[in-house]
Amino acid sequence: METAKICKYCAKKLTGRTDKKFCNSYCRSTYHNDLLGNKTNYMRQINYLLQKNRRILATVFATTENRKAVPVNLLYLKGFSAMHYTHQLKTSKAHHYIYCYDYGYKMVGKSHVLIVQERN
Ligand SMILES: [Zn+2]
Repeated sequence: METAKICKYCAKKLTGRTDKKFCNSYCRSTYHNDLLGNKTNYMRQINYLLQKNRRILATVFATTENRKAVPVNLLYLKGFSAMHYTHQLKTSKAHHYIYCYDYGYKMVGKSHVLIVQERN
């Protein structure tokens, strides 16, 4: 049985060559532009979250006296997204820092974090 092929962009039924994926070059280029646009938006959103995380870490770091550990909830209340980070530094189990650019943190116990600033 022959399955009807449809344009990947506008979903119109395709006729002619069996290897066609689009009805015309307009559909082809619009489809690819949309795809690229979504990827750009996705990256933009991740970048935004990373910068937001960094801002939260920097703010808490600057307002915490004597480099004390702070409740991790304090970060979450400000909108911190733990799944977004730029890199990690792990030299031992107790020394595992997660960074958002130049600010990082490590867990202290189960409910607190110690924020650090990377010095360049
Ligand atoms: Zn089409």
